[in-house]
Amino acid sequence: MTTQNSSFETIIGLEVHVQLNTATKIFCSCATSFGEAPNTNVCPTCLGLPGALPTLNIEAVKKAISFGTAVNAQINQNSIFARKNYFYPDLPKAYQISQYEIPIVGRGSLEIECEGEKKRIGITRAHLEEDAGKNIHEGEISKVDLNRACTPLLEIVSEPDMRDSNEAVAYLKKLHSIVRFLGISDANMQEGSFRCDANVSIRPKGDSKLYTRVEIKNLNSFKFIQKAIDYEVARQCEAWEDGKYEVEVVQETRLFDTTKGATRSMRGKEEAADYRYFPEPDLLPVYIDEKLMSEGRAIPEMPDEKCVRYCTELGLKEADARVLISSVELARYFEQMLESGVSAKGAQNWLTNELLGRLKGENTIESCGIDSKTLSVLVARVEGGQISGKSGKEILDVLVAQKGGDVDKLIESLGLAQVNDDSALINAIDSVLSANPDKISEYKAGKDKLFSFFVGQVMKNAKGANPVRVNELLKEKLQ
Ligand SMILES: [Zn+2]
Repeated sequence: MTTQNSSFETIIGLEVHVQLNTATKIFCSCATSFGEAPNTNVCPTCLGLPGALPTLNIEAVKKAISFGTAVNAQINQNSIFARKNYFYPDLPKAYQISQYEIPIVGRGSLEIECEGEKKRIGITRAHLEEDAGKNIHEGEISKVDLNRACTPLLEIVSEPDMRDSNEAVAYLKKLHSIVRFLGISDANMQEGSFRCDANVSIRPKGDSKLYTRVEIKNLNSFKFIQKAIDYEVARQCEAWEDGKYEVEVVQETRLFDTTKGATRSMRGKEEAADYRYFPEPDLLPVYIDEKLMSEGRAIPEMPDEKCVRYCTELGLKEADARVLISSVELARYFEQMLESGVSAKGAQNWLTNELLGRLKGENTIESCGIDSKTLSVLVARVEGGQISGKSGKEILDVLVAQKGGDVDKLIESLGLAQVNDDSALINAIDSVLSANPDKISEYKAGKDKLFSFFVGQVMKNAKGANPVRVNELLKEKLQ
């Protein structure tokens, strides 16, 4: 199967479910903690027992407002919850409380960059809803764990604006970064806090009609999302070319089999009417008052803004700034280094080129054991001339190997301190010069090359001397 077909255009729209990191569930006060013993974070409300009534968690509303603000979306001051009816073992009420007609977040957009091209992707809406429980299949037996039931989700629906899997992944990475910088979700893909459904269709190039779209469900890694979309596009193109499009491409939900690298049919796709949506009678319409609106709208600096500031105010190159904003942890680490007073260029270089360059495989900035304070001390010692850049790298090698340590103690134990004491340097210079009167005459007669000979001799005599200072002092002496 080919992954690219030049006579067709691909249309991709994405639905992303983000689990909001509130302490308690969206409609009850059960904890949302992950990995607890099955069916321990439950109460009559999230178990769907008759008579139990939902109460809206205002924190979830606030986080939704923050998201809407970050993507320049319209925030609906009034929104309503609706019942989405369906039967499934992990949904004890037989309906999910969601939003249908008026979601909390309306139209917005975000900008992606793909192969050097910038593109704006529309966001249709984002609505609040409760998650379902989890079915656990063990051999012949299936069990239901309702700990996840009723945890808050923000479902973010994009416009069908993406034209290939690269754009889809770029959009998802951007969205992932936005929710992480906002701090509204841990967005842990393995634990299912950030999962994606992709709607994929094709059409002959130049055609403006939308053809049958297939939904691929529950994709939880960027790699699988890319593979699933590429597979599905190739499958649809091949069916078209073989004259089997009508038969093989039907409106349905498909699953991506990660071991086979292929999608397979799961069920026919339901239309909205199949869910018999109606307004949730147990919850009042949501009204966002001014206080809540301004609290939700008070969001931290977003990655794109940081990138601009790093370039214009701190004088970094855009490519370097991009690396720093690639994760919230890295940006935070960098900004903590700046607070310690080292230069922006020094912090950037030692963090991204030197430290990241030394971290391999699973070893990340969070797990390497070298905190921003430690790296700041190292940079400060280099910038202050107490050690040379070369010695700084040597110390960093040790810090990485032993997962952290004390920079100043290492400078001492490794004997890397530079001699900055001018009197010691002047003594060394004087003894070198008095031992080489003939070379001084040659130098003064115009043999400039001898200057580096003198520097070398002084450095030999004064171990750990700061070469910059040696240069300066020598020049003065020889004049
Ligand atoms: Zn509960």
